[in-house]
Amino acid sequence: MMVLPKINYLFSLIPHKPPAAWFKSLDSNISQFLWKNKPSRIKLGGASLPNLQHYYWSAQLKHMMSWFMDRSDSRWLAIESYSCRPRQLASLPFIYNFHKIQFAIDNYSVLNTLMIRNIGSLSWRSRGIINFSQLVKKDIFKPFEEIKKHFEIPNKEFYKFLQLRHFFESLKNEGKIRMELTGLEELLLSSNSLKGKISAFYRLLSSTSVSSYNALRTLWERDLTVSFSDDEWCRVCKQTFPKCTSVAQHEQNFKFIHRFYLTPVRLHRMFPSLSNLCFKCKSEVGSVMHMFWNCDRVLSYWKEVHSVIQKVFELDFELSPCIYLLNLYPDSLNTDIVYALNTLLYLAKKCILLLWSKSEIPSVRMWFTQIT
Ligand SMILES: [Zn+2]
Repeated sequence: MMVLPKINYLFSLIPHKPPAAWFKSLDSNISQFLWKNKPSRIKLGGASLPNLQHYYWSAQLKHMMSWFMDRSDSRWLAIESYSCRPRQLASLPFIYNFHKIQFAIDNYSVLNTLMIRNIGSLSWRSRGIINFSQLVKKDIFKPFEEIKKHFEIPNKEFYKFLQLRHFFESLKNEGKIRMELTGLEELLLSSNSLKGKISAFYRLLSSTSVSSYNALRTLWERDLTVSFSDDEWCRVCKQTFPKCTSVAQHEQNFKFIHRFYLTPVRLHRMFPSLSNLCFKCKSEVGSVMHMFWNCDRVLSYWKEVHSVIQKVFELDFELSPCIYLLNLYPDSLNTDIVYALNTLLYLAKKCILLLWSKSEIPSVRMWFTQIT
């Protein structure tokens, strides 16, 4: 995407937090452009379009990363460090309720960076101790000798060590301290280079956000009256783009899992004068599941397809919409059979789509024609 670096450059320079409505308006403009001012038929996020708000957060988090690095050449960092004294910038992300602290409120650029997502005495801090993690190994407070040696703490500071250890233990006993770093914190502390970090933050933010595929999971689970494990749903999503070069197959799978098709129910919603009944049986409501599976006439077609597949591949699995519609095969199938089934079931569904709005149902003969 050619414009993305330009947008990221702009995001890196914005010193305040744009309102959520602004990002929504950007998404809306992109959607209008893509769908030519018509209502979108697939949710924006599902089309793997960039999430601009995540890119904005990533650009800001990249600045935060500088707080943990030695960048004596950076003037803006020197200004932010000075304005936050006596605190250190590197300790700010670990302060609870930082947005209620006056100095952070006064320093808007620092607060803004913190919004995207100290301990001890001054003498300890000047020796490089800025957070508890430096004093703790696993969940045990390090012995004084070890801390003294590592940070060159004088013996007279032993009483401060006891105070800190007591404070730490009391927090730990009350469950008020988190021992593990989050993925975001690990990334912030992980590197001495800012190169490629917007992408790294973006990947992290995108992986932890609720994707549009998760919203689809709920819909498919409801319609199929099943509950997918995370592993099963991951396999369903992966099978959307199987290892084949057929763009048509990828496109149809993508549209199918996103329930792209204009069912009688959707058409009736758009044009109330149209019936919401199935194009085939004309007696039941034409939902996605009914049109692709539950309709008696369509199910008879699937039974024939199932029978052929069982015989040809000498397989024995049940006739299940999870297998035939979402390509969620039994674990026992080898990769060659999975590869063949992906194509065969794509063509089986294609036959349904070719006769989508007609009363006619596809036949196995029609399927064979598509295969050959
Ligand atoms: Zn029907």
